[in-house]
Amino acid sequence: MKAGRILILIIGLLSFSRVTAQLGCVTTEHTRLQVINDPLQANAIQQAETFIRQVLASPNTARLENGIIRIPVVIHNLYHTTDQKITDEQAVAQLELLNKAFRRQNADTVKTPAVFKSVAADCEIEFHLATSDPLRRATTGIIRKYTPVSTWIMDDKMKSSAAMGADPWDSRLYLNIWVCPMEKFAGYSSMPGSDAKLDGIVIGLSAFGAGQKTLIHEAGHWMGLKHIWGDEYCGDDGVEDTPKQASYTVGCPTTTRVTCGNGPLGDMYNNYMDFTNDGCMNLFTKGQKARMQAVFAPGAARNSLLSSAGLDKPLIYESPLPEEDPRWLQVKMYPNPVTTTLYIDFSYDVRWLGKTIFISNLVGQSVNNVTISAKIQAIDVTNFKPGIYFLAAKNDQGVSMKLKFIKL
Ligand SMILES: [Zn+2]
Repeated sequence: MKAGRILILIIGLLSFSRVTAQLGCVTTEHTRLQVINDPLQANAIQQAETFIRQVLASPNTARLENGIIRIPVVIHNLYHTTDQKITDEQAVAQLELLNKAFRRQNADTVKTPAVFKSVAADCEIEFHLATSDPLRRATTGIIRKYTPVSTWIMDDKMKSSAAMGADPWDSRLYLNIWVCPMEKFAGYSSMPGSDAKLDGIVIGLSAFGAGQKTLIHEAGHWMGLKHIWGDEYCGDDGVEDTPKQASYTVGCPTTTRVTCGNGPLGDMYNNYMDFTNDGCMNLFTKGQKARMQAVFAPGAARNSLLSSAGLDKPLIYESPLPEEDPRWLQVKMYPNPVTTTLYIDFSYDVRWLGKTIFISNLVGQSVNNVTISAKIQAIDVTNFKPGIYFLAAKNDQGVSMKLKFIKL
């Protein structure tokens, strides 16, 4: 009997992790890790939660009265292979779907069960690609960046340039979304109150684009929403008009599911904060709207977003100077001076493979061309006359390389 129960428990845990892996929101796990690693974070996230509850409890104070909230978005697309670059169309289609969900304009709102129609809400929140960067230069709001890293995990390294990812734009003024190849799951978000340097949403490449709803769910977390089951058995999501429910829902049920005594309404598995299939999700509630709006109230964690200039007209229209490649992308050459074999190390930047290195002498005459066929390319210079030589190459991203060496 006891062994049987343990077995059931193990099967239950296995199926939970499998489901989590497949459906892929790991925000809860990420928040848990964050607060374990940094006790100050635990405090800040708790304070943000307390503040949200205070705003909700005192409807006459600190409420927003300025209509639609418009959030400037910057997408950091980290790619290793060029097929991992997102297109402008993908980004636009994704944000359009996101906005339809938050404005309750999706065609599938008709699928919201009749018992929940009266609590379904137009959240009056919209997301737009930034038009001005933090220095008020013109931007498309989409930054594509090559990285030697081929896949990412839930450790926030994609949020740091030093770790071969991309630093966020000031997260008090922009919603940062990192789109990159992820291992095992679809995405996660930081909760209000999180460390500003790590604040934003991460979406796996395969969960990003037209028709994908992971970003809707994660944007809900980013504005303080919890999973609809409160992340524990019949838990509390801090929202009154979402029925208590036992746990997450998978697939897309077709009948009322009564748990935690929530009959006759049953589980609200059509809510964006459940784990049902994308095609099954179609509502946020008025209570969830109030909670999300509360994070923008004066003094609340995301209030600063309201004074962002990210959606204003840029003040500077010239395109920014190309930034110097990060140190981890710089090509290394050795030995220099050289007598027989020169080595050029491209190991972090595979974009050079197949490209041509042009070698010229001091007066600009071409001496040799070499096709790059290895991450560390050897060039035989035994027959070169002693003197100064230049190496030049350009890759498909327009990055050029110029190096000088001395043949003894
Ligand atoms: Zn989630």
